[in-house]
Amino acid sequence: MLILQDRTTIKHLCGQEQGWLNTPICGTDTIAAGERTLSDNWDSREVITVQGVIRPEEMGVTYPHEHLFLDAMDHYSSYGYQLVIDDEDVMAQEILEFTTRGGRTICDVTLDEIGRDPERLVRFSRRTGINVVMGCGWYRDFGYPPIVAEKTSCELAEVLVREIENGVGDTGIRAGFIGEIGTGRHHVSPAEERVFRAAALAQARTGVVISTHTTRWGTLAMEQIAMLEEFGTDLSRVIIGHLGDRVGVKNLLPIAARGVYMEVDNIGYLDYQPEYVRADNVAALVKEGFVQRVLLSEDICMLNHLKYTGGKGYGYLLETFVPLLRERSVTDEQIYQMMVVNPANAFSRRRHDSCIS
Ligand SMILES: [Zn+2]
Repeated sequence: MLILQDRTTIKHLCGQEQGWLNTPICGTDTIAAGERTLSDNWDSREVITVQGVIRPEEMGVTYPHEHLFLDAMDHYSSYGYQLVIDDEDVMAQEILEFTTRGGRTICDVTLDEIGRDPERLVRFSRRTGINVVMGCGWYRDFGYPPIVAEKTSCELAEVLVREIENGVGDTGIRAGFIGEIGTGRHHVSPAEERVFRAAALAQARTGVVISTHTTRWGTLAMEQIAMLEEFGTDLSRVIIGHLGDRVGVKNLLPIAARGVYMEVDNIGYLDYQPEYVRADNVAALVKEGFVQRVLLSEDICMLNHLKYTGGKGYGYLLETFVPLLRERSVTDEQIYQMMVVNPANAFSRRRHDSCIS
């Protein structure tokens, strides 16, 4: 249950005429609002960004599932050059669509197989002023590097723990969560099971959240949950990705009932479904009492998603999708919960709750 004791503060954040989404929200107002919406105390929590540790309330409006830079061309050849985003000048311009509408933090789920570049993310974070939280792990079976077959899941977990606590390689740049780790369409492969076990082991050591990829809108979501549960993961620290693109909340309720975060992250993918499908699903999840478990993102990963090519751009969720939620009686407080409070809860961990041997 969302508890808002100080409606004045929230009104200020949410705005009335212009809407809070048009106003950068930051500083003490955000802290005040955030603390009032949490049962857990943010004072004891931290977020690991590529530039270092920040407080959860510094995250602000957050997109939890994006790919600022990537190169996935080798794995999806039919998309070709669309899947190579590497121009920092272009992206600095693109991200203004996000920041001018109040966006503060991007969680980048790009892993090594599809072009993760920690140093580039640090440069970009410094240049643009946004917080970037970087993932770690291995994405999907077809792209796994040899290490996945060569090491045990315990050894793979060690790699993840080191990236979270010490940094990637010798860069000192730390990952802030595990993911996106994925499964394919028909069954969980042995190698994917191995990666999920490694993720579970590393999660237990570090306390960071696990973010998953499901292929085609929630396929094998329940199997992912079953695996992680078997490996001992606290399901409240799991984000199931790529949900919300099937018609009807009935597809989502069994997943939501397990206590995971429900990530509706294909917002603006009109080639998947008309937008009302996702908006209806989010509104229905809110109505069913899951507002504290919903995350929203755009999963921008192709050149034709970017504004300069005529795509949706990073402002679409805030500018176009949020009004669809309001039309469906989702309140500003609930939108704030999904876009500010939930990401801060998901991507923060208890401080000092892990150590590396
Ligand atoms: Zn994905």
